[in-house]
Amino acid sequence: MRNLWSDKDARDAQKKYAAHGANADLALRTYTTRLLGGEPRLVQHGGGNTSVKTTITDRIGNDIAVLCVKGSGWDMGTIEPAGLPAVRLQALLDLADLDALSDEDMVNIQRANLIDSASPTPSVETLLHAFIPHKFIDHTHANAVLSLCDRPGGLRLCREIYGDRAPVVPYVMPGFALAKKAKEVFDANPNCQGLILHKHGIFTFGRTAREAYDRMIDMVGMAERHLRKSAGKRPAPARLPKQISAAKEIAPILRGLSAAPLDRNEGRWSHVILDHRSGGRILDYVNGRALARYSQQGPVTPDHVIRTKPRPLILPAPQAGRLDVFAAAARKAVDDYQAAYRAYFERHNAQVTPKKKPLDAMPRVILVQGVGLFGLGATAKDAGIVADIAETCASVVLDVEASGRFESISERDQFDMEYWSLEQAKLGKRVDKALQGQVAVITGGAGTIGAATAAAFKREGAEVVLLDHDERAVRAAAQKLGALGVPCDVTKRQSVDAAFDAVTQAYGGIDILVSNAGAAWTGRIGEVDDATLRKSFELNFFGAQNVAQAAVGIIRAQGTGGTLLFNVSKQAVNPGPNFGPYGLPKAAALALMRQYAVDYGADGITSNAVNADRIRSGLLTAEMVKSRSGARGVSERDYMAGNLLGREVRAEDVADAFVSLALARKTTGAVLTVDGGNIAAAMR
Ligand code: ZN
Repeated sequence: MRNLWSDKDARDAQKKYAAHGANADLALRTYTTRLLGGEPRLVQHGGGNTSVKTTITDRIGNDIAVLCVKGSGWDMGTIEPAGLPAVRLQALLDLADLDALSDEDMVNIQRANLIDSASPTPSVETLLHAFIPHKFIDHTHANAVLSLCDRPGGLRLCREIYGDRAPVVPYVMPGFALAKKAKEVFDANPNCQGLILHKHGIFTFGRTAREAYDRMIDMVGMAERHLRKSAGKRPAPARLPKQISAAKEIAPILRGLSAAPLDRNEGRWSHVILDHRSGGRILDYVNGRALARYSQQGPVTPDHVIRTKPRPLILPAPQAGRLDVFAAAARKAVDDYQAAYRAYFERHNAQVTPKKKPLDAMPRVILVQGVGLFGLGATAKDAGIVADIAETCASVVLDVEASGRFESISERDQFDMEYWSLEQAKLGKRVDKALQGQVAVITGGAGTIGAATAAAFKREGAEVVLLDHDERAVRAAAQKLGALGVPCDVTKRQSVDAAFDAVTQAYGGIDILVSNAGAAWTGRIGEVDDATLRKSFELNFFGAQNVAQAAVGIIRAQGTGGTLLFNVSKQAVNPGPNFGPYGLPKAAALALMRQYAVDYGADGITSNAVNADRIRSGLLTAEMVKSRSGARGVSERDYMAGNLLGREVRAEDVADAFVSLALARKTTGAVLTVDGGNIAAAMR
């Protein structure tokens, strides 16, 4: 573990944070908290916490001793002084005399003593920080320390390595009881520089931010040096089939099985996003012969349990060419997992008061032998966090198994942590959006309508993928939107397959396709050359067919229905002069939409079209008309001409139409017109 302290950076941090009203203590506290938080082998996603005891002056001019401690919801790697709210220290110290304190009272007292009432709630480990008298306190869930602790005999091993420098606190659930226990151990060893929390993590202290940080890096280094003796030893591998299916082939199956039906008649599901990992040592971990033992013990540090649940789901290696066998085995495994989770809940809930409400029984982590691990989440961000934590878990467990046997906290302790109200509060109250957990792929994604449509689907909570033949443009458009951009020539089957593989690799599947790529060619139909007409068919018809076919394959593997949307044109129903080369393939695309509605309705797949016309800076920009028009020119005025409502139609209006069709689960084979009113183009 490298020590990243820099005098210059520390000085710069003081200057920078002073501008935000932070004193030198808080500025340096923020600086080293970020150093710790930037190292994933020390802390992961909201884990760990730090504090400093300092003095502030209130509005009256009184000096107040406060504890500035990490607030809930802040990540150490990106923390700002505002993420370390100040709490009156004396009010916290007074609590040390109590024998017991309920979580509700603890949180209330901490909040009631905040200097700024708008601050985030102080960390669940605030009292531990208050009870240890040192000025600067750092706490991490360092992988190396966990690898020492999380084994039978771990307590003894830590005592051997750290001695009096960092005595070991036996496992107690975080909160008031742990704070008291830690104080007891500290008081018995007042010269110690840190504490090892058995099966949880490590605390280090110092008079300065640098001293506490130096000690953290140093003591984690001691654990790393011990582990190095057995480094590189891999677990005995299980016997796997010679040919194994790829992650992209099994991801849609797993994604479908992990979606919970909300209302089958309404076609509503609680969808999840899958984040696949197979790098580093993950394959060593999932391919281990003893996977069923070491992966089912529990988390490597207690607070991971709220993200990953106590246990991952294990699936056998999918033999290539036998996806049906894998799908059947996976379905049974998911059912068994849920039954086991419910039994676990009942087993422990019977012993607690007040009674808890069960959380959903779906796995958060799926381990597939030969393929890797999948993190599951309601959003891509959540799935990524789960996958990161699962990766950390694999790494810690492998380090333990190289010289011992992995052991977690007891199942009852796991339950208490998973169902601890203060832990659940960390996940926040999520407002479910209409398309949350769904993946929407939009072709022609770099254009005006594509970008507007992407923004509209993102607003509804979908993960959005933009496809476009212009690689630079699609990456730029995606970056602007916080979407995924994938280059794709929809006229080439290979390019389409590669793009959909990328989507499946990134999110696990697809639910919504917006086939929007298109371009206009013109020419009088009796005179137009064959090549022009065929080129237009390639893009405006076969392009739509290529992506629809690819999407349907994935959607059917998921088995949770889906949505196909096509951008057709008024040309499909109301041909304009000289627009045959454009209108004919668009008319075929309209028929294509209906054919998908007919052939895949039974799969829960809706297929609809938006008939957009006269869009300002839309599909047919003046520039395109200029470059693509045939002998007879078409002026921009033709597209901007008045409509029945006399209102300007924008790309955003088309986007809204796509979204409303995606939400309409009982509409299929329909065309929604977005043109401000053009009776000649009305469907009949
Ligand atoms: Zn902790």
